[in-house]
Amino acid sequence: MSNNKYKILIVEDDRNIASFVQMIFETNGYQVLTAEQCRQGLLMFTSHMPDLVLLDLGLPDMDGEVFIRRVRAESAVPIIVLSARSDESDKVSSLDSGANDYITKPFGTAELLARVRAALRTNRSSLRAAALDGCFRVDDLCINYDRRQVTIAGEPVHLTQTEYNILALLSQHTGKVMTYSSIIREIWGAMDNGNVKKLQVNMANIRKKLGCRPGDNRYVTNELGVGYRMLDE
Ligand code: CA
Repeated sequence: MSNNKYKILIVEDDRNIASFVQMIFETNGYQVLTAEQCRQGLLMFTSHMPDLVLLDLGLPDMDGEVFIRRVRAESAVPIIVLSARSDESDKVSSLDSGANDYITKPFGTAELLARVRAALRTNRSSLRAAALDGCFRVDDLCINYDRRQVTIAGEPVHLTQTEYNILALLSQHTGKVMTYSSIIREIWGAMDNGNVKKLQVNMANIRKKLGCRPGDNRYVTNELGVGYRMLDE
């Protein structure tokens, strides 16, 4: 592992936060690069090709969302937004621009490390699913994409077409929060408020069929006011 460290790029203009985050990752065996501005971050991204980016949205030269859109145009690298703003619309728009996840400041060391490990795993698990038998597996849940069949511990789960499509979509973005509007666009191709309700009703049915009780976050978590996330373990 020592000669094959994950490389993390931190784009953050607040030096206290940047050095705090840098220290956390260096102590835990990661290689860290830092940039204080959006433009500098883009240059460092291109020249160093990091494995993951931690990104502040409020940067002095440009909005962090510019970074997300530019990088997403050419790379699937995981991007986690470090958001000082508790405003949901910022989270939603950065996720819709292509960020994988967000973490709201102030955050703890354990939470930050866990989010980063999950995002790095996600990139590998999508490769893993594609390389194996075309089935997606998490815990005892299995989605067979060829047969459009879902099983739990080998027992078939009877989903409607729409329910299956939603679950398959989430599984193809494992670990990533998918916003309501991005799911709705993929499933129904349009966006209106009635569809959010329809999505929530479908998700409630899916969770019930997967054997989840209310508040039970197995397989899929509900990111309140933002969207849903398929867990990857
Ligand atoms: Ca800032």
